[in-house]
Amino acid sequence: MWWRAGCVMGSRKRSAKARQISEFKAVLSAGDGFDDLFAREEKRREVAAAEHEAALRAKSCESKNRYPSRSEAEAAVAACAEYGTTGLRVYKCRYCNGWHLTSHPWEESE
Ligand SMILES: [Zn+2]
Repeated sequence: MWWRAGCVMGSRKRSAKARQISEFKAVLSAGDGFDDLFAREEKRREVAAAEHEAALRAKSCESKNRYPSRSEAEAAVAACAEYGTTGLRVYKCRYCNGWHLTSHPWEESE
């Protein structure tokens, strides 16, 4: 029993806080699956972050035309405007260091 283990191992002079920490650690090591739970949650977050990153990359980089410089991207914006597509802007890509066009002003920061 973890609460007894805390009493047996602990000194009576220990502070209440130290005893709480000791008991908390005893619970964690008692085989109740807390460690597994934390590890799984950590892994799940990593996977979710990686998927989110991949989705962002596909949306803001890989699915788009890439221009090697700002001036070429801006030339493309001008060409689009001639064909009736206005409101485009250019941004430097944090994935490929090239330039892309977007019609969504919030996309770059997303
Ligand atoms: Zn890119």
